[in-house]
Amino acid sequence: MRECIAVMEQAFADLQHGFLHHPLRTFWVPPGVDGGTMWMAAHRSLPKPMFGTKLLFVLNDNPSRGLDSHQGQVILADGETGALRALLDASAVTAIRTAAVSALATRLLAREDARVLAIVGTGVQARKHLQSIPLVRHLEQVFIAGRTRDHAQRFVDRASGSIPVKVNAAETTEAAVRAADIVVTVTDSPTPVVKREWLSPGTHANAVGASRPAAWEIDPRIYADSVAFCDRRESLQAEAGDYLQAVASGFIPGVEAVGELGELVVGERKGRTSLDQITLFRSLGLAVEDLAAAEFVIQKQEGL
Ligand code: NDP
Repeated sequence: MRECIAVMEQAFADLQHGFLHHPLRTFWVPPGVDGGTMWMAAHRSLPKPMFGTKLLFVLNDNPSRGLDSHQGQVILADGETGALRALLDASAVTAIRTAAVSALATRLLAREDARVLAIVGTGVQARKHLQSIPLVRHLEQVFIAGRTRDHAQRFVDRASGSIPVKVNAAETTEAAVRAADIVVTVTDSPTPVVKREWLSPGTHANAVGASRPAAWEIDPRIYADSVAFCDRRESLQAEAGDYLQAVASGFIPGVEAVGELGELVVGERKGRTSLDQITLFRSLGLAVEDLAAAEFVIQKQEGL
């Protein structure tokens, strides 16, 4: 995870400098399927040309089968010849790179003295964010909020001892968020799980779930009152229901109000400028993240 945070930082710098490219992904729900499939393509021009394609299958019944809801493959191919270089498990790549990107955004946007983390959600991404966020801030406490308190407690029982920080099951999502300096939402809820008024001045929020235009995981008013960043504006406009609602309601004028993580990484846009600002990172997930994570895996493999 620690290595992946550094890999994601370089990937966002490369994206910003035009060495990495990707089109918008395609999302398709076949008739009768509870979930859907995503096709995500990317290309690197420098330093070594590479194609990356992720085929992701999101199957909502999988957790009840003991499987991650996100399955699939990441294919790496030589960027000049197209020859196959590697085939990786997209489930693992997605789980790790997503939490690493949130940790990168948190490192760049959260207050230095942030000590309390709230995670809303109890699935795969909740587990991975519990691993990644403590790598970028000196946390003292973590609160987990689930759909029910029992789900949160079950998560805490399993996670106990995995990090050297006290992890608690929150009574309610509101209580967890109100107590937090850093908030992570990692649910598949199509309706807001966090209200604007629950965020205290100075909080940093990573909104990671609900990457469909019809779904909004966070209160759209948060955009109005925060220094907001996303991974890519094009994805935000096409995929983030909460952002579309924020614009439709007149809370923000448009996409220029939201920065990109790449701009922040290379210093082209300012992040937090005061301790009491709320900061927001809206993560949709980019194909270039999968490409960069997969490249790193094969570089390590070749270095063995
Ligand atoms: P999982 O299916 O493993 O977990 C989803 C969790 O959300 C479940 O534990 C579910 O709880 C919980 N949940 C649903 N509604 C609520 C609610 N109202 N309050 C609290 N918890 C709730 O999915 P993942 O962890 O893999 O993914 C989480 C989200 O992140 C998904 O929307 C996914 O699409 C998105 N995602 C985003 C990525 C990105 O790059 N931005 C990459 C990968 C995933 P319960 O078990 O009780 O139903």
